Amino acid sequence: MSRVNAPSDDLPGFTRIYSGKVRDLYTPATTESSAGDPDDDLLLVVASDRVSAFDHVLEPGFPGKGELLTTLSLWWFDRLAVPNHLVPDHRLDGSSVIPAEVAGRSMLVKKLDMYPIECVVRGYLTGSGWKEYQATQTVCGIRLPDGLENGDRLPEPIYTPAYKAPLGEHDENIDFDRTVELVGPQIAAELRDLSLAIFAEASAVAEARGVILADTKFEFGRDPDTGATTLGDEVLTSDSSRYWDAFAWESGQTPEQRMASFDKQIVRDWLAANWEDDGVTPPPTLPGEIVERTAARYRELLERLTGDAVG
Ligand code: ATP
Ligand code: MG
Repeated sequence: MSRVNAPSDDLPGFTRIYSGKVRDLYTPATTESSAGDPDDDLLLVVASDRVSAFDHVLEPGFPGKGELLTTLSLWWFDRLAVPNHLVPDHRLDGSSVIPAEVAGRSMLVKKLDMYPIECVVRGYLTGSGWKEYQATQTVCGIRLPDGLENGDRLPEPIYTPAYKAPLGEHDENIDFDRTVELVGPQIAAELRDLSLAIFAEASAVAEARGVILADTKFEFGRDPDTGATTLGDEVLTSDSSRYWDAFAWESGQTPEQRMASFDKQIVRDWLAANWEDDGVTPPPTLPGEIVERTAARYRELLERLTGDAVG
């Protein structure tokens, strides 16, 4: 089956070096005359319209997804009080560095030495956390009060890091001590503190707009020039986060009503009901109605948060 929105190997001035499930990474193409350019430490991160769930890329993607996620990421980067990897998109003559064919769904960023940690923060109990809680009253080993329900707010947000597994392997939940082994005590503490601080800041912004940020994942890297811990990857998108409608959460009676999500939960739920992952059978093609409902929720999230109508 052909991949939706398959990446092109090269874009004018760029060479593809990596493709994740959803995004493609390019470096500025080196020519003899550009060797040693300061551009060598740049990356172009291109968001495709591909949709992934349970670590599989699904068919079909949805048109406009890459642009929606990029717009949201840029909007958040601009608001957060933490150094990030964005590089202004202009040459000395003022023209754009980003090729026209991927404009609107690309970010020009500084290449960081990424820490191999997915910095997950959870403000609410759901998903894999809810499953673990039901079995052991813990989430990623952190003990929680008893009597919590699916979708409940946690007494305070918790940091539940994961090891970012190499390509093709599943990420693995780890405890804070393991992050200390991976990156040292100082960086481990910095990643945790920054993650919790950004989560608190972003939750307040979202809540003021009637949106709950239930959980999210950040990725940080080290700026090779300054050594500063810098926020990389995408940030607070509906791919990397769970977002719910605050009004539905307040008034809903059932877990489904309370967790009216602006993310790909619709896709996860449909897949869970229609497919058994036996490691061999590929996921089924998503029905048009599921794709359209998910796309509409992604658009609504962007409108709610930014206040701009999304066409
Ligand atoms: P998955 O499909 O599971 O998300 P992935 O995380 O490898 O796999 P993408 O998220 O599509 O795939 O690709 C983005 C990649 O770019 C990630 O590996 C991320 O860590 C890396 N990355 C993001 N920002 C930077 C940066 N500024 N410098 C270097 N690498 C970065
Ligand atoms: Mg990723």
